[in-house]
Amino acid sequence: MSEKIVFKYIDLPGAEKLAVYREHGGYSNLKQVITTREPAEVTGIVKDSGIRGRGGAGFPAGVKWGFLPQQQEKPVYLVCNADEGEPGTFKDREIIEKSPHQLLEGMIITCYAIGAKKAYIYIRGEFVKGARILNEAIVEARTAGLLGDDILGTGLQVDIHVHRGAGAYVCGEETALLESIEGKRGQPRLKPPFPAVVGLYESPTIINNVETLAAVPSILEQGAEWYRSLGTEKSTGSKLFSISGHLARPGVYELKMGTPLMELINDHAGGIREGHTLKACIPGGSSVPILTAEECQTAKLDYESLEAQGTMLGSGAVIVMDETTSIPRTTSTLADFYAHESCGQCTPCREGTRWISQILHRILDGNGRPEDLDLLLDICDNISMKTICPLGDAAIAPVQSAVTKFRSEFEEFIAGNGTPRMAAATKSGSEV
Ligand code: SF4
Repeated sequence: MSEKIVFKYIDLPGAEKLAVYREHGGYSNLKQVITTREPAEVTGIVKDSGIRGRGGAGFPAGVKWGFLPQQQEKPVYLVCNADEGEPGTFKDREIIEKSPHQLLEGMIITCYAIGAKKAYIYIRGEFVKGARILNEAIVEARTAGLLGDDILGTGLQVDIHVHRGAGAYVCGEETALLESIEGKRGQPRLKPPFPAVVGLYESPTIINNVETLAAVPSILEQGAEWYRSLGTEKSTGSKLFSISGHLARPGVYELKMGTPLMELINDHAGGIREGHTLKACIPGGSSVPILTAEECQTAKLDYESLEAQGTMLGSGAVIVMDETTSIPRTTSTLADFYAHESCGQCTPCREGTRWISQILHRILDGNGRPEDLDLLLDICDNISMKTICPLGDAAIAPVQSAVTKFRSEFEEFIAGNGTPRMAAATKSGSEV
């Protein structure tokens, strides 16, 4: 069932403008939150709501805020992760472009809760329009006294700055993102220490995704119980799903956690394009294992259900493929992406992703060997959990699952029968 919380203002024309956002209730609860609730109480409400980070990792947001050291002399920072580079993911862009003040309001409340006076929005470089809209919204908010040294006359100090990335996927990883803001090469740091203890400029830092922060004003307004009443016991609230691929109505839909995957595909995204059938689906961005059509029938969109099916909710990017899709070609495209985006710090990721890409190309070119499939799985095994950041595991998830679940398709290429499949796919104009 559709549930508009983060997408509350999404269909409202002009909601990116402060006047329209305020006219429809935006910022109306902010002063009350700042003046009547203690910061710890705000953190407690977010913690009780059970909201989990919407960037992909799914770590409980309120718990993360609680990791900040109680006593520290250094300034605390809030960083909003708006890098949104996961293939198939395009939900945060919608919030940024159509409802930027909702994000700013969530960030102001979060800064109040964690004691941060300065916050950054790290936005991917390609989001030129989004960065412009955010900067305009920040100027509007500063002019209206919603940002600055004395927010709404309460004495609260918060300012927000937009920092544009330069196109590296790995900068969506929180510590690489911090390095990038500091002006260094965007490479992930070893953890621990975690950013809540040693983060931006070696200061305690909380990093949250755009969607997570945009949900905060509604949680404070309507309460933790209300939020928990949506979704499932452990996956509370609503979630944005960016669904793409062979569909009648691809787009971004906000649904309660626990909604059946087939309801998203058929009822909201209009079903598989006419005349075709579902073949497979990647439910959480390209970094998670693929589901077969049969597995899709029982899948539910929440953290626990998808984990029980051997995959993940990730960023909520649902990539749908019909029967014209060549799984080996899709896998090869994804493998090329990860090989290109590996930052090169760890040998298993740097070398392994390149080997995977080369072997898949060999198979697709008709030069594959029967032992190549087990070799691919062996390389994946040697990357798994042996790297500094999750990119290594992200790279192997589509390969391991595709080779395991669609092995016969790879074997057909190795046997020299791949070309007819490609010709058929190209003829239908839908090769993936
Ligand atoms: Fe870099 Fe890959 Fe290691 Fe992450 S896993 S730090 S991307 S080499």
